[in-house]
Amino acid sequence: MVKISIALSKGRIFDETAPLLERVGIRPNDDPERSRKLVLATNRRDVQLIVVRASDTPTYVERGGADLGVAGRDVLAEHGGEGLYQPVDLGIAACRMMVAVRKGFDYAGAVRQGARLRVATKYVNITREHFAAKGVHVDLIRLYGSMELAPLVGLADAIVDLVSTGNTLRANSLVPVEEIMPVSARLIVNQAALKTKRAALQPLIDAFSKAAGR
Ligand code: AMP
Repeated sequence: MVKISIALSKGRIFDETAPLLERVGIRPNDDPERSRKLVLATNRRDVQLIVVRASDTPTYVERGGADLGVAGRDVLAEHGGEGLYQPVDLGIAACRMMVAVRKGFDYAGAVRQGARLRVATKYVNITREHFAAKGVHVDLIRLYGSMELAPLVGLADAIVDLVSTGNTLRANSLVPVEEIMPVSARLIVNQAALKTKRAALQPLIDAFSKAAGR
C-alpha cells in the first residue's frame, strides 16, 4: 500500500482544511488541537497527517517529509516555493497582505519624497521585493509576531502584515495604505512524489479540488 502524508499547521489552516478533508473522506483519529502527537493516523490506512509550524510546511513538502501540504500564499511567497507543485487554490484562510501605518502618518508623501522607510515584518523577502519594485528604500526590521506594536512605539514607520477584518489594525490606531497581494491557502505537492506516487496522489488532488469547489 502506498502511504500518503499531508502536512498541516494547527489553528486557522487546520480549522479551515478540516471540512475539506471531511469532504474528501479523511478524518484524523485524534484532534490535533488537543493531541500532542505530531503524526496523526486517519480513518484511511494509507493517509496520515503531520502537524508542522505554518512557516515550515513548504520545507517539509519540498524535501519529501510530506507528500502534500496546505500552506498560505503568504508563507509560500516568503519561502520561495521552488520545487513545489501548487495545483489547487483551496480558497480558505483568505485575507490580504497589506502595508499599514500609524493613523496620521503621510505614507504617500514619504514615498513621494523618497524617504527611507523603516518597515517591520516577518515577511522580509516579500517586503524587500515589494519596495524594491516601487523603488522605495527601506530598512527592514524582522519581527516574529505582533507587528502592529512596532509603529506605536516608534520602532517602525510601517508594517507589512496580513489583514482579514481590519480589527487588529483599528484596535491599534493603524490604517492599511497598500495591498501587496490577496492571500489564501493552497494545496502543495512534492514534485518527486507526484511522479512516483501519481496513481495514489492524483485522485486525492482531484478530490481536494472538487471539495474546494475549484
Ligand atoms: P484581523 O484583525 O481580522 O484583520 O486579523 C489580523 C490578524 O490576524 C493579524 O495579526 C494577522 O497576522 C492575522 N491573520 C489574519 N488573517 C490571517 C490568515 N488568513 N492567516 C494567518 N493569519 C491571519
